[in-house]
Amino acid sequence: MEHWRPADVAWEEAPAEYFTGDVLFGPVRNDGVLNILAVSFEPGARTDWHHHPEGQVLYVTNGAGLVQNEEGSAVEISTGDLVHAPPGEVHWHGALPDSPMTHVSHTTGGATVWEGRKVSEEEYGSVAGGGRSPVAESGY
Ligand code: MN
Repeated sequence: MEHWRPADVAWEEAPAEYFTGDVLFGPVRNDGVLNILAVSFEPGARTDWHHHPEGQVLYVTNGAGLVQNEEGSAVEISTGDLVHAPPGEVHWHGALPDSPMTHVSHTTGGATVWEGRKVSEEEYGSVAGGGRSPVAESGY
């Protein structure tokens, strides 16, 4: 059995070519099968559009943010929430304009596939412009 505490995570800058804003990676464990990666977004920061060959599970550990897929449905997420992106579903995730957000990503099936396009200010503003709704208490 292995066990990690938050202080065990060695944060590093995420590659700017695939993100907008300030984003840190916190690698937890990658054995080539299961990749567990904490990702911390400053307010307004987000991924580019991408997908995961075998899907992705996100567990939000701090703050509040957004996930959106290509069909346009954006969902606000906050501490304690879990998200599953099915295999191949094109999407992005990131922080709200007025809150940081940290999630732990769990993927199998190899590297993220980047679509080659940023989440524009217009796209982001269209789903993040409505202000933040009250954050429910975590049920976990
Ligand atoms: Mn993703």
